[in-house]
Amino acid sequence: MPLGPVLRGREELHRGEPAIVSRIKSRVTIIVDEEICKGCRLCVAVCPRQAMQLADHTNSRGFHPAFLANPDDCTGCAQCALMCPDVAIRIVKSE
Ligand code: SF4
Ligand code: SF4
Repeated sequence: MPLGPVLRGREELHRGEPAIVSRIKSRVTIIVDEEICKGCRLCVAVCPRQAMQLADHTNSRGFHPAFLANPDDCTGCAQCALMCPDVAIRIVKSE
């Protein structure tokens, strides 16, 4: 007997994280306001998937801004945005 959509969804959830990540990651992207960022690295340190890094270039204040270096690894958990003391990170829905 074929599984219905709900059961299939539950089965996917129980198969492991990659299935969950692949469904979540396509829904959001991370935008860092480079001029607000002071390169403190808190978002880099808190990211559980090592998706954030500091850029090689500097902003007008001489800080290396953070950016989403590994978008395929981002789950949209928002820990980086919650951690940022300057509210420089926005999580936006992807189309
Ligand atoms: S949303 Fe989560 S996974 Fe994505 S960059 Fe921020 S802390 Fe990392
Ligand atoms: S936590 Fe905020 S200010 Fe610090 S590096 Fe990340 S985006 Fe920049």
